[in-house]
Amino acid sequence: MFQHLAPYAGDPILSLVETFNRDPRANKINLSIGIYFDNDGNMTQPESVKTAEERVGIGAKAYLPMEGHAGLRAELPKLLFGANHAVIAENRVTTVQTLGGSGALRLGADLLHNAFGNSKVLMSDPTWDNHRGIFAAAGFELGSYPYYDPATIGVKFEQMCACLDRQPENTIILLHPCCHNPTGVDLSPEQWDEVLHIIAARQLIPFMDIAYQGFGDDFDRDAYAIRRAADLGLPLLVSSSFSKNMSLYGQRAGGLMVVSPNAEEAALVLGQLQLGVRRIYSSPPAQGGLTAYHVLSDAQLAAQWQNEVYEMRDRIRAMRQRIYDVLQSKLPERDFSYFVKQRGMFSYTGLNAQQVQRLRDEFAIYLLDSGRMCIAGLNEGNVNTVADAFAAVFKG
Ligand code: PMP
Repeated sequence: MFQHLAPYAGDPILSLVETFNRDPRANKINLSIGIYFDNDGNMTQPESVKTAEERVGIGAKAYLPMEGHAGLRAELPKLLFGANHAVIAENRVTTVQTLGGSGALRLGADLLHNAFGNSKVLMSDPTWDNHRGIFAAAGFELGSYPYYDPATIGVKFEQMCACLDRQPENTIILLHPCCHNPTGVDLSPEQWDEVLHIIAARQLIPFMDIAYQGFGDDFDRDAYAIRRAADLGLPLLVSSSFSKNMSLYGQRAGGLMVVSPNAEEAALVLGQLQLGVRRIYSSPPAQGGLTAYHVLSDAQLAAQWQNEVYEMRDRIRAMRQRIYDVLQSKLPERDFSYFVKQRGMFSYTGLNAQQVQRLRDEFAIYLLDSGRMCIAGLNEGNVNTVADAFAAVFKG
């Protein structure tokens, strides 16, 4: 019946995880997928989130409303915009609980497509692979703006600005406010100011996808671009995820926030989002949403949670430093400082596809073909092995 359909080549990241799982070598190391592992290589849950899950409890759960749990919808924008931001006080933020960050992206993409179906969506070059898939599936024509510069392992900032400055009104610009996936290379606050200035002047539509809040600098500074865009009165969409910072990967918890110029339009947007949800999955999962609500709404638990995220952040930073130390001492003629400058879970290592293949074949170390490594897969037990293998492969 379906033989006329094209076979799906598979998702590059998820397929690699399957290859890793099938690899019989005992010493194999998985640095491919974006999951936080602790120093023992286990996927753990913050104690604060465990406490919240206990409060939620097991047993029957009623359907949540289409737009999700009211308490979570009240708490989430405070985390993103800051509790006292005018957009919250003026009822200009519409918040909908979603199926993780991916669900928020798709719901936001559908809303935008209904309103601006002829607009193009521009994404950073490169970006998280599924960004392209999600916006293409919503019906958009895709494009990209210059971002990563392999020569400097930094941002092609001038080219990025020049590209944005050429776009027609209502072009949708997908941005990573912190911990850029896949490169780990972020904009500085000054660079954000410049980008947002162009977005405002050109009347472009920013869509900020934040899946790693708390892993960069801290919860507030990681949201700099979002808050600045809101300060400037820009129309704005924000997709956010609790997958990584609450380890709620499988519970599918996240949110979409849309900032409108006034409360009337925000109410209209809510109706459109409710309609979108009703037509696809009717209501979001209760367990994850309630868990996130309990964490955020209890001041003590929220503070504990933020500290636990900072412990994860610091462990990642320590692993960055270790990789840097080994490589810099083994290959002093090269500059590996980018490992410590990059932020968040990921690093563009500077390794090319052939070197990545060699790591896989000879050392059973799995990175993405692009050279992206998930730093959170490193620990005291494997970091030296990985650093030594990198040095061997960099030497050629
Ligand atoms: N955006 C980015 C940049 C991501 O890296 C991810 C997760 N890898 C997502 C969105 C999706 O998040 P979730 O797993 O919550 O759907």
